[in-house]
Amino acid sequence: MDEAVQIAKMVFEKQLFIMKQILRMGEFKFGRETEAYRFFKEQSMDYFYIGTETLFKEMEEIGLLKKCICKGYLRGGYSGCSYCSGAGYCNKDTKFNI
Ligand SMILES: [Zn+2]
Repeated sequence: MDEAVQIAKMVFEKQLFIMKQILRMGEFKFGRETEAYRFFKEQSMDYFYIGTETLFKEMEEIGLLKKCICKGYLRGGYSGCSYCSGAGYCNKDTKFNI
């Protein structure tokens, strides 16, 4: 597999970055140790994981992705897997070139 063109890894890393920025805005607005922030964080992370899982399953159904050999789990967060970074999916076609 070519590590440089893993679709799920690219999407997951970008999504993680976006989610972290959204959480930072929530922390600024509500304060880190508040009930409002805890709710905001829980909801934001749920949307992130559900949306990203749905996207990866759809990409698996159309033949772009398959489960990664590391058996990573999206909600487990970032990992050191060079194929998926913890997304849990990698390219199905090893010849796939973006
Ligand atoms: Zn992996």
